[in-house]
Amino acid sequence: MSFDLHTHSTCSDGTQSPAELVAEAAGLRPAGLTGLALTDHDTTAGWESALATARRLGISFVRGTEVSCEAGRRTVHLLSYLHRPGDTPLARELERSQTSRLGRAERMVRRLAQDYPISWKQVLDHVRPGATVGRPHIADALVATGAFRHRDEVFAGPLGVRSKYYVPYYAPDPVRMVGLVREAGGVPVLAHGLARHHGGAGLDWIEEMADAGLAGVEVYHREHGPAEVSVLLDLARRRDLLVTGASDYHGTGKQNRMGENLTERDVVERIAEQGATEVYWAN
Ligand code: AMP
Ligand code: FE
Ligand code: FE
Ligand code: ZN
Repeated sequence: MSFDLHTHSTCSDGTQSPAELVAEAAGLRPAGLTGLALTDHDTTAGWESALATARRLGISFVRGTEVSCEAGRRTVHLLSYLHRPGDTPLARELERSQTSRLGRAERMVRRLAQDYPISWKQVLDHVRPGATVGRPHIADALVATGAFRHRDEVFAGPLGVRSKYYVPYYAPDPVRMVGLVREAGGVPVLAHGLARHHGGAGLDWIEEMADAGLAGVEVYHREHGPAEVSVLLDLARRRDLLVTGASDYHGTGKQNRMGENLTERDVVERIAEQGATEVYWAN
């Protein structure tokens, strides 16, 4: 009885619609997947469609959002499960990040256009209307020009954080955001907190987030090696945090495969107890 608690759809930078994503998850039931969470970046836009598909196909579903935060100059990703989708300080922060991401992507494309055959309009062809815009969409447009083979290659080049084309965007402080998630009835779980390449909070920030009411840490994730897993398990034991595992699946946009890391059902039950919105339990 296992759940994949971190996946993306075309409502942010995944490559499948929420319905397609849930259908793929339902196809993995024979392999032991009993449910999934949809956690698009800074949005709840996919929840309704994902939930409808989950009901139809009989797979459990957890509403979620991966909230972009910034600690110092580092990106931190905070998963919020089961928050109220309405007008809350959390929702207003998500909207602010989304707006900032849009202007930031346009500025990055303007810089890139000096050296690559790419326009803002071409990038928008790769963004579903209303979706949270990110570097992966710019990568898709660059791949379509034939200059690169896949997203990974573009991230290793012009889209990297140290590239001259990189532009930051507004994202809130992760410690404050733990409070805003709780206030919105959400269950805050730190995503890939010790990842080396992106979205790694670092231990000092995690301790502060724990003081602020963090519920759990995503321990089992592709970007954590045995050393990171061991450090996070110790921390979770010491600070009484829930331990999750997830794929961070982005469809064909990343190598992560759905279900490659999982969370046990009893942990999902403890998340459900703390959340303002219900988990859809298929069985
Ligand atoms: P952004 O939020 O716009 O700064 O872009 C970061 C997003 O790009 C993350 O959510 C990742 O899912 C994605 N990403 C980061 N590195 C890679 C990579 N090497 N290949 C594909 N996607 C990536
Ligand atoms: Fe992403
Ligand atoms: Fe992330
Ligand atoms: Zn993610």
